[in-house]
Amino acid sequence: MAAVEMTDRQKYDLKRKLEELRLCKGRHTELISLYVPPTKQIFEVSNYLKSEFSQSQNIKSKTTRKNVTSAIESILNRLKQFKQPPANGVVFFVGHKSIGADQTDMVAFVIEPPMPITTFLYRCDSEFYLEPIEAIMTEKEIYGLMLLDRRECTIGMLRGNRIELLKYMTSQVPGKHGKGGQSQRRFERATEIAAHEWFVKIGERASDIFIAEKNMKGILVGGSGPTKQYFVNEAYLHYELQKKIVDVFDTGYTDEYGLRELVATAAEKMADLKIAKEKMVMKRFLKEVMKSEGSLAIYGEKQVRKALDMGVVDTLLLSEGLRIYRVKLKCPHCGYQQEMNLDETKMQGFVPPVCSSCNSSEKMIIEEKLDLVDELSDKVETKGGSIHLVSRESDEGESLYSAFGGIAGILRYSLDI
Ligand code: ZN
Repeated sequence: MAAVEMTDRQKYDLKRKLEELRLCKGRHTELISLYVPPTKQIFEVSNYLKSEFSQSQNIKSKTTRKNVTSAIESILNRLKQFKQPPANGVVFFVGHKSIGADQTDMVAFVIEPPMPITTFLYRCDSEFYLEPIEAIMTEKEIYGLMLLDRRECTIGMLRGNRIELLKYMTSQVPGKHGKGGQSQRRFERATEIAAHEWFVKIGERASDIFIAEKNMKGILVGGSGPTKQYFVNEAYLHYELQKKIVDVFDTGYTDEYGLRELVATAAEKMADLKIAKEKMVMKRFLKEVMKSEGSLAIYGEKQVRKALDMGVVDTLLLSEGLRIYRVKLKCPHCGYQQEMNLDETKMQGFVPPVCSSCNSSEKMIIEEKLDLVDELSDKVETKGGSIHLVSRESDEGESLYSAFGGIAGILRYSLDI
């Protein structure tokens, strides 16, 4: 059982799937959610479903009965593809969603989550039961934070972009300099003992706090003097946690304010912090925007599409806040093709127009429906560029969404587009 590292795109795609599922409503209790943990045997799950199948024969309404039994059958069929559950288990969402006017449409999602499912769960309701998988998805990147010197120690946690203060302690360690004279050596010895006891104490407190946080990715240690390095070198933290120390950072403060300073300092050095990645790439882009000559920045869908087609995009920046579908239409009569963007509300109940190329009165056919983020990401990836999905959680991310329409890029070289 292990956490699977998902790429930003996989996370985005899963988040969008969950949004889609949340909108599904059954006309009756006929939407099935099934959570299978990795420890469950497939045959046990099948047996469970078979018994649900026979019980559902008692459902009075004929349509509901038909919808429930066909959903169960569909899951049973899909289960046959598994010899055993995947590493983190598997979740099924199957049923007939209402599409208005007494009409229903079959939906079937099979999701392998990024973190293990812990409980077996079957539910048949008028909506899908999404809480357990949503809880998994909202797991943020978690880092332990520790600031220390010989006088103070602050312990905190970084969850996504949020910083929590968990413990603040002060020591009784005397200053380094005594009165001199004969007692000087004894004084120094007493000071070193007091310092050692202080490190043991804060090491234990920090270890208790950090060990309880199972999904912590690493620990950042900060402080103003050489003490923090000594603390790390002498391994005052639990041995399992010693391995998680990412690095030691210089900060001016060792109190609550220092936590923010520590995260900001670490973010500059750690490319794998999502918040850091977002901020860095957006700063790079905004710097280009400011240039009056030779700017590499492009923004707006039209300009970005053109640059993508030319294969000159080095880095594509897309806001996770975009909720747009790219729909590809084709005329069944003359084969004329057309692409258009539709937002979520327009997508619901969308009826394709007639062909503008020939005089056929037949409506065009939806050949493909893609999330705009996926469509543009595929384009840049085939041309060897990189893609950054930017949340709206930081100021820079919000400006990508509101000031640049959520679509921007940095070119390989400067050219007029
Ligand atoms: Zn046509």
